[in-house]
Amino acid sequence: MRYVSYLQAGEARPGLLTETTITPIRTMSLLEFIALPPSARTAHITSERIALESVSLAAPVIPRRNIFCVGRNYLEHAKERARALGREVKLPDLPAFFTKAPGAIAAPGAQLHLQARLSSEYDFEAELAVVIGTRCKDVAEDKAMDTIFGYTCLNDVTARDLQRAHLQWFKGKSLDDCAPLGPWIVTPEEFGDPQARAIAFRLNGIEKQSSTTAQMLFPIRRLIAELSKGMTLLPGDIIATGTPEGVGFARTPPEFLRDGDTMEVEIDGIGILRNTVRIS
Ligand code: MG
Repeated sequence: MRYVSYLQAGEARPGLLTETTITPIRTMSLLEFIALPPSARTAHITSERIALESVSLAAPVIPRRNIFCVGRNYLEHAKERARALGREVKLPDLPAFFTKAPGAIAAPGAQLHLQARLSSEYDFEAELAVVIGTRCKDVAEDKAMDTIFGYTCLNDVTARDLQRAHLQWFKGKSLDDCAPLGPWIVTPEEFGDPQARAIAFRLNGIEKQSSTTAQMLFPIRRLIAELSKGMTLLPGDIIATGTPEGVGFARTPPEFLRDGDTMEVEIDGIGILRNTVRIS
């Protein structure tokens, strides 16, 4: 199944997406729906129908707290990063978790407003995002996949110069509009094996990243197990699982976002998260 949030009178409303039709859900938000026990969810799905093309989509879910992210979770990206920084490749023994403020989340299709005075090095990162469906803690790896509500695309837009200048990555990763998310959430039974999905990024139609989630150094089950050690995960929490090789700063020469660019994150089994860039 696929879940969306769509705009109605300026408010994000939850819905179930079937091909080109949205079935509205009665809860206030998709976050509230996700937090319901699975057995209680069906009762909130209406019998109304709305054409997908008649509405604008919102980001499918806004979590209650920061987006959990993973740095260097694809081998080739770890290598290109080390090369660009003039360092030796050192693979982490544990996932390098950091976070991104939820205020950075932007809708699928939205124009992103970035400020030239803050950064001249806005970069892209195509990522598979996991949406947690169950309150959980100390989850064993073999139970970790049971905690997942679904999957969506995230573009971990990053101001590289701010990331460096502030030492801690949070600021350079959390500017407004720097976390486009969507276009919808695909549930696990429809998505299939999340470690066997093609992931790609295109800038103005030209492919810059092309990999597969099979290349993750820490698979999703391990990420959930490590993150939930001693730390409760909540329904609606998002884990961005890292980006493959091909990001702008590690290219020769480096390629940063420019005013008017169109970015597309495409993940097999989900679809395309498309955003345009306005830098002023
Ligand atoms: Mg990232």
